[in-house]
Amino acid sequence: MNRQAKDISEMKCCFFDQNTTKQFIEFLMSKAKVIAPHRKGEKSFSFQETHNPEEVVLNYNRTIQPIKKFFMPPRETLLEFELNGKPKVKKPEIKIEERIFLGIHSYDMKAIRLLDFSFDRDKPEANYFLRRQKSVFIGIAYEPDEYHFAQDLGIDVYDTTGFSLFMVPAEKGFLIFEVDETGHRYLQEFGKGLPLDAELQYERPEPTKKLKMHYNRLPQIFSHVYDSPVWKKVAERCLGCGTCNLVCSTCYCFDVFDEVNLNIKEGTRERTWDSCMLNPFAQVAGGENFRPTLDSRTRHRLYRKFKYLTDYSGELHCIGCGRCSYFCPAKISLVEIINELIEDYNRQQQHAAVTVS
Ligand code: SF4
Ligand code: SF4
Repeated sequence: MNRQAKDISEMKCCFFDQNTTKQFIEFLMSKAKVIAPHRKGEKSFSFQETHNPEEVVLNYNRTIQPIKKFFMPPRETLLEFELNGKPKVKKPEIKIEERIFLGIHSYDMKAIRLLDFSFDRDKPEANYFLRRQKSVFIGIAYEPDEYHFAQDLGIDVYDTTGFSLFMVPAEKGFLIFEVDETGHRYLQEFGKGLPLDAELQYERPEPTKKLKMHYNRLPQIFSHVYDSPVWKKVAERCLGCGTCNLVCSTCYCFDVFDEVNLNIKEGTRERTWDSCMLNPFAQVAGGENFRPTLDSRTRHRLYRKFKYLTDYSGELHCIGCGRCSYFCPAKISLVEIINELIEDYNRQQQHAAVTVS
């Protein structure tokens, strides 16, 4: 499912004009539930179930929530229990449905692959994988804006890994690339694409160069900046609101609590998304808090992305979607924090070199 795909220049391709694209979305809707970007506000977008192809917006910059919300909902009931007589516990059934995720950017697909890793470690997270298993993904190329830095983290705009089809906007329509067998089958059944056999000319966006160091070196930088003054500097502006976690494509921490009805006879066990930027997150019995300050929480958030999980998986767990910076009410930029940490690291290295000589 997530094997490394070949470059799109080696793939079969056809052309859809705008009208054929709408017909294709209708065709997809006849096969499964289609989830695609829709306009939410004047300048905001959200992944939603498609009921009308006219409402799908394929030229969007980013959605508010990433697609993880379909595999790990913001709130879900894990158990229903009855305390009347002999206690009974029931697990709500999870509907396994076929879903086609349309218009996904390569970094959001990478986030799903990272979540697959995180949820498969130790004891696999059954609910996530049940919802995830019958998903087909159709990617689309995008124009990076000032907040995207996925390319700086090695995620190409045209990375087709995990997709079945890949769309590239072209004049008056889209180039549609066949990435895998499922994509091939969809195009065969639909049968309306204009085949393109000539060598394709398409423009690749200029690589972004927002980070001051190659992404491969970031875990090494994070080995040296645990006591950096940068954390306190960021904390002076941070409101501790937790938005950055809640819009993040790769954050997965949750809280679990029981709700007992007023009759004290039945209740449910609920799971909700949680945020390590909120003060009570690291609070334990007795009132102790492992991370009572904003600088310690900010540091923890970034170490989860660039060090702790990377040491396990060998991959960075940030995909450069820019959501945390774009939606931060204090306008705190993740790229700026990383660059300041890089500068701090460079200063430390120069200081060490001067001391030795
Ligand atoms: S969204 Fe911004 S202000 Fe809110 S916790 Fe995150 S960094 Fe702080
Ligand atoms: S840390 Fe920010 S840029 Fe990185 S994946 Fe999360 S929201 Fe996106």
